[in-house]
Amino acid sequence: MSELKTRLKMAAGIAACVFSFIFAATAFADITPPEKFLGFSVGADYHLATYDQAVGYLRLLEKESPRLKVFEMGKTGMGRPMIYAVIASDETMKSLDRYREISRKLALVEGLTDDQARQLAAEGKAVVWIDVGIHASECAPAQHALQLAYDLITDDAAETKLVRDNTILILVFANPDGMEMIADWYRKNVGTPFETAPMPYLYNRYAGHDDNRDSYINNLIETRNITRLLNGVWSPVVLYDHHQTAPFPARIWIPPAAEPTNPNLHPLFIRGKNLIGSAMGYAFDREGKDGAISRFQFDFIYPGYEDSFGDFFHIISIMTETALYSYATPRFYTIRDFPEDYRDLTPSVFYPSPWKGGWWRLRDAVEYCLTGSKAVLHIAALYREEFLYGKYKMGKDIVARFAKEPPYAWIIPREQWDGPTAALLIERMLMQGIKVFQAEKAFIADGVSYPAGTWIIPMSQPFALFVKAVFEEMLYPDLTKYPDLWQGIVSPQNIRDAYLPPYDLAGWSLPYQMGVKAMRVDTPLMASLIEIRKTELPGAVAERSGGSYLISPKTNNSFTALNRILKKGGEVMRAKDGFSAGGKSWPAGTFIVRSSNVGREFMAGLAKDLSLEIGLGDPPASASASRIKSPRIALYKAWRASADEGWTRWILEQFEFPYINVENAEMRAGSLRNKYDALVIPAMSADAIVNGYAPGTMPPQYVGGIGDAGVLNIEAFVREGGTLIALNSGCQFAIEKLSLPAGDALRGVRSAQGGGAPEFICPGSVLRLAFNPKHPVAYGMPEQGAGMFNNSPAFQFYPDSGAGKGGEIIASYPDDTLLISGYLKGEKFLRKKVAAASFMLDKGKVVLLGFGVQNRAQPYGTFKLLFNALFY
Ligand SMILES: [Zn+2]
Repeated sequence: MSELKTRLKMAAGIAACVFSFIFAATAFADITPPEKFLGFSVGADYHLATYDQAVGYLRLLEKESPRLKVFEMGKTGMGRPMIYAVIASDETMKSLDRYREISRKLALVEGLTDDQARQLAAEGKAVVWIDVGIHASECAPAQHALQLAYDLITDDAAETKLVRDNTILILVFANPDGMEMIADWYRKNVGTPFETAPMPYLYNRYAGHDDNRDSYINNLIETRNITRLLNGVWSPVVLYDHHQTAPFPARIWIPPAAEPTNPNLHPLFIRGKNLIGSAMGYAFDREGKDGAISRFQFDFIYPGYEDSFGDFFHIISIMTETALYSYATPRFYTIRDFPEDYRDLTPSVFYPSPWKGGWWRLRDAVEYCLTGSKAVLHIAALYREEFLYGKYKMGKDIVARFAKEPPYAWIIPREQWDGPTAALLIERMLMQGIKVFQAEKAFIADGVSYPAGTWIIPMSQPFALFVKAVFEEMLYPDLTKYPDLWQGIVSPQNIRDAYLPPYDLAGWSLPYQMGVKAMRVDTPLMASLIEIRKTELPGAVAERSGGSYLISPKTNNSFTALNRILKKGGEVMRAKDGFSAGGKSWPAGTFIVRSSNVGREFMAGLAKDLSLEIGLGDPPASASASRIKSPRIALYKAWRASADEGWTRWILEQFEFPYINVENAEMRAGSLRNKYDALVIPAMSADAIVNGYAPGTMPPQYVGGIGDAGVLNIEAFVREGGTLIALNSGCQFAIEKLSLPAGDALRGVRSAQGGGAPEFICPGSVLRLAFNPKHPVAYGMPEQGAGMFNNSPAFQFYPDSGAGKGGEIIASYPDDTLLISGYLKGEKFLRKKVAAASFMLDKGKVVLLGFGVQNRAQPYGTFKLLFNALFY
């Protein structure tokens, strides 16, 4: 090439560079800042952006910049599209599929050598998942997301460039319905006396504040969308879930977390969490943002949180709790507002820059969220390669660990009390990315023979610790043995007899909650396995002709079948005792469907759809049975919104029970018996039910509860033949207000009386229960089982009173070891006490289901108590 030509080419190159620089600068200037789109700055006093605005703004950024793309991940419980944005450098955005593939390969481990893993880690990008707004009344996180997106696209500081070039941000709006509802509620009240009033309905259609406690079971559609995207698509190295309830007066809670630590975590994961937390703390104090606190209050032993279930999938999952006042209303604090321990502003290792008070505005909270998010992205950019390789390393270690130490597998036999529920547990494991197999031939494990087709979860797989964490009996650690582990500068506790409660449940073992038989295998598994993607549990109607259709009450799905049959006008009887027919024995409570009403084709459809084995035959003429009808169900819904009500609603819908939500006005108006057969009171205090919100605290239409009139109307409803069903803590209302001849044996021993340690402690735990399957409410239950004790009463009967009589036991705590999973102190106070009971009151009945029979819609093993009670 001649010299002249070279010079011309260079000149052209320079011109092109200048041109592209001008072009880039122009494009940059064209990017709309959020305040221009919204009409107010992100975090401005008295202003909240709605979800629709957030989507509109991100869609606009998508048009204006190649650095951001918007995707839909599914719909919400209320039918809104659930969107997320992907943000990275222009170059990275061109190869998103490749980077996603690298993340997935490293997460799944399989087929990679160490060298290949190192090469992939060198090539890959650190995928960072940040989700906002899961608890919608904690407003700042979702608002900050708009500013974060804009800053990351437009800022050209070296640190932001480093982030853009090395990371891929997955920015997820975790609760769109809630963001919309909260903004709407607040806007209506700004400038009125009710500006900071709580929203009187749940901000997730069914779960409210429990929406982040569903992740290990995936009941909610939002959780499923998140799981699919998290474990099935992106496999990020870091997940950061924003919350907003810092322990006052700290301004933000950051990792490291409080004790106890879940024992089923890879140590690298815990180190990663602490590393990120320390980097965040450094960022806060570098920016002069005082008041970041750690190592206190929030533990992650519960694996069901949205920000803890990823732990077992080698996603370094963290959360923060930024300080919250109310919505977008500012507040000024002086040191006199602080708890006494904090007034001297003593710095400590995990609280080195105590907050001194002053104004706290939504914008301050937004700024703290921005610092948090950017610090996480920064550390992920710096540790990109280490985190990517570490993800592979964690998976690989676990595969190796369970190839040579127990448990080697979990076996879920086909022969189950409730087969479709066992299949459901497996489906949920598959949904999370756990590999499940079926035995090709009969085999022996731990000396027990199992037939071909048995379900097996081998532990030699990268995410095996998740299975261990949710299957095994969890014994909550006795932290009094390790006083130095958990001493903070606040809430100092007496280290000799203090008990450190978990932030949430202490026990959760899913097989026990769901009544599913699952066996841990402690010797190496010798079986030939076929991987499955679905459980494929066939249902069928018995071949022989003639007689009635018989449906077992042992299966939850039988109730769905029953509801469909009743809806179609089918005639159904319920056997009072067990009997033999069609060559099989049928327990008390079996549904007998007269074949003249519904055809074989319809029944075969039910069997197939619901995986039911439907029998044919007739009970002996002497057997007594009573006709059942579709109950008219009322579910009480208070303005003091109850997640337990929401979960109950979810379950009723899943099993196709028609129901109506009744509110205070209807309860006060009366004539309940004319409209309903069964009235369900969810777990809530008697005060919340009777008095509701105090006058002056809420707009008038949401003030008050059912009042004395409502109490009298409920009593009249029962006396006139209705069935009142009270759930868990809601039982206290029924006992007190209907003067039932029963009391709570735990009253007075639950909390410390006059100092000292409480005599009885049981944070949410799985306990052993004895059921009485002869009682119509326990039809279809095994005699021995488990129940979720969660802030529950325990009944003792008193002599019959005029107000109620005939206390009958449905379930009780046996005179035995009660704890299966969790923590229990003071077992003697529970032994031989009643867990669920029924009473007669004139023509009607009261059913007290005094434990979490449907707690968070997780204990599938005890849903039947609620279903039976509805038909009682
Ligand atoms: Zn929260």
